[in-house]
Amino acid sequence: MIAAADINITKVERSKLKDINLENIPFGKYFTDHMLEVDYEDGEWKNAEIKPYQPLLLAPSVAALHYGQAIFEGIKAYKNAAGDAYIFRPLDNFKRFNVSAERMQMPQVPEELFMEGMRMLIELDKNWIPQLEDHSLYIRPFMFSSDEMIGVRPSEKYKFMIILSPTGPYYSAPMRIYVEEKYVRAVPGGVGYAKAAGNYGAAMYATAEAKKIGYDQVLWTDAYEHKYVQECGTMNVFFIIGNAAITPGLESGTILAGVTRDSTIALLKEMGFNVEERPLSMEDIIDAHKAGILYEVFGTGTAATISLIKELRYKDYVMKFDVDSWKTAPALKKQLNAIRYGQEPDNHGWMQKV
Ligand SMILES: *Cc1c(COP(=O)(O)O)cnc(C)c1O
Repeated sequence: MIAAADINITKVERSKLKDINLENIPFGKYFTDHMLEVDYEDGEWKNAEIKPYQPLLLAPSVAALHYGQAIFEGIKAYKNAAGDAYIFRPLDNFKRFNVSAERMQMPQVPEELFMEGMRMLIELDKNWIPQLEDHSLYIRPFMFSSDEMIGVRPSEKYKFMIILSPTGPYYSAPMRIYVEEKYVRAVPGGVGYAKAAGNYGAAMYATAEAKKIGYDQVLWTDAYEHKYVQECGTMNVFFIIGNAAITPGLESGTILAGVTRDSTIALLKEMGFNVEERPLSMEDIIDAHKAGILYEVFGTGTAATISLIKELRYKDYVMKFDVDSWKTAPALKKQLNAIRYGQEPDNHGWMQKV
């Protein structure tokens, strides 16, 4: 089995960092000097390399482009005031990566290759982590099938890669959300719980339709009845109703098990909320709104952390919220960030030193 010692390192001759200003750098546009690339062939991982970030040379017949065996992860690393780099909960992303791989009939990536490959890559490109407020390094591990063969079957060859992108504050304005009743993101038995590339492609049309009528995102509902809420765009969703914090449970396989979701649940419990992971219907949400006890609605995800929802429209019923008066979601965001930047103790063991 491949070990971290087998990862071959070739460094750039000249760093691109000199040409780039990391302050307020846009999300996902610039990449660091190096990348990790590993091949899966003949039933094993081989040719593990950290090398200069560069284009891939692929045959037009490469299987992933045709049949979509492709998965990814999104993780962030932060620099604290002392300049030390930490990654937020990477082992959870590693485990989820292999859950996605299994669902897409792709090989498992060994823990040491994923974790140590990521750590070595970040170590090498450490200077790319902005030491600025609300800035971070976005880590993008991904895997795709690489057989040069257009027969429909699981590939025999795969590539596992990690690329890194420095990123500035991800400002997300409070969102207007349209409750989707025609298109669906996930069905029981489907791939909704996997971070599969196709899930994103399949969601874009419905999102574009909602944007046409003035909404920022859709709130997905269940495929059978369009009655129960699932996720908000590509974020998990939370509703504060009375002294309960409610988010859809993971058991039906239609919800992506967000690491931010899990962290939010832990912090909400510490704040004294009764956290309920269970089916939540639009009817119950509207009843709570009418009773005046629907206090806050927000999305959670690695990119934006916590995104406030200022308006929710279900059929002709519109719920508007005075987000400036909210306490819980802003407090969660503040606390999560304080842990990430090392300003508050990491009592949960979430931060892993690079
Ligand atoms: C990645 C993702 C999330 C958020 O997961 P985090 O681990 O918190 O970033 C939520 N929903 C979907 C559909 C996703 O792909």
